[in-house]
Amino acid sequence: MNDLVVARGEVLAQIEQACAKVGRAENTVQLLAVSKMQPSDCLTAMYHAGQRAFGENYLQEALEKIEALQDLDIEWHFIGHVQRNKTKHLAEKFAWVHGVDRLLIAQRLSQQRQPTQAALNICIQVNIDDQASKDGCQPAEVADLVQQISVLPHLKLRGLMVIPAPDNTTAFAQATQLFEQVKSLHAQPADWDTLSMGMSADLAEAIAAGSTMVRVGTALFGQRNYATV
Ligand SMILES: *Cc1c(COP(=O)(O)O)cnc(C)c1O
Repeated sequence: MNDLVVARGEVLAQIEQACAKVGRAENTVQLLAVSKMQPSDCLTAMYHAGQRAFGENYLQEALEKIEALQDLDIEWHFIGHVQRNKTKHLAEKFAWVHGVDRLLIAQRLSQQRQPTQAALNICIQVNIDDQASKDGCQPAEVADLVQQISVLPHLKLRGLMVIPAPDNTTAFAQATQLFEQVKSLHAQPADWDTLSMGMSADLAEAIAAGSTMVRVGTALFGQRNYATV
């Protein structure tokens, strides 16, 4: 499991270099470890390497890991597609949900968040490069969604999340522009500080463009083995 320590160190060094290149402080970019398809003991090892924020895509798999690893102080992020009939578990078990792309989903998450819990952190997912197969709202819908979601009681609207097509790095600049535009809205959300973009293959480009949170799986854990999980 020592190789996970090494892999994490390498990814942190990549983040640091990407920040230095554009004159950003290293602590302006957070590393989210994407642990989908990885067994719980790999998450435990990554946790002991110092990682606290983990991202999962598949609800059932995530719930099993959350249960198994409940003694660890993990911050759980849901980065998969949010289905309307799955919001209750998301509201109760996660600290962050990155894939909110319509008001109804946000309303349900707010209603289903337990009042005793801290507010649920939310990112609005934007289909920034208009991919036919992708989830996310249209860029033109963002301003309205921000206004509507930021008044919901049990949520903290933190920012935007995008998954552009591979090699479409101009999409990162478009996402940054949209992210900055929200700051100039009349009623700017109080906690608007997160631009979730960049993965193993393109984290440096995403950071150069303004990402504040990179979601990294393969570069941390190695290739996912879809055959055995
Ligand atoms: C799987 C996944 C990642 C991580 O991808 P890698 O290429 O393995 O780093 C990041 N974000 C989302 C939304 C994902 O589904």
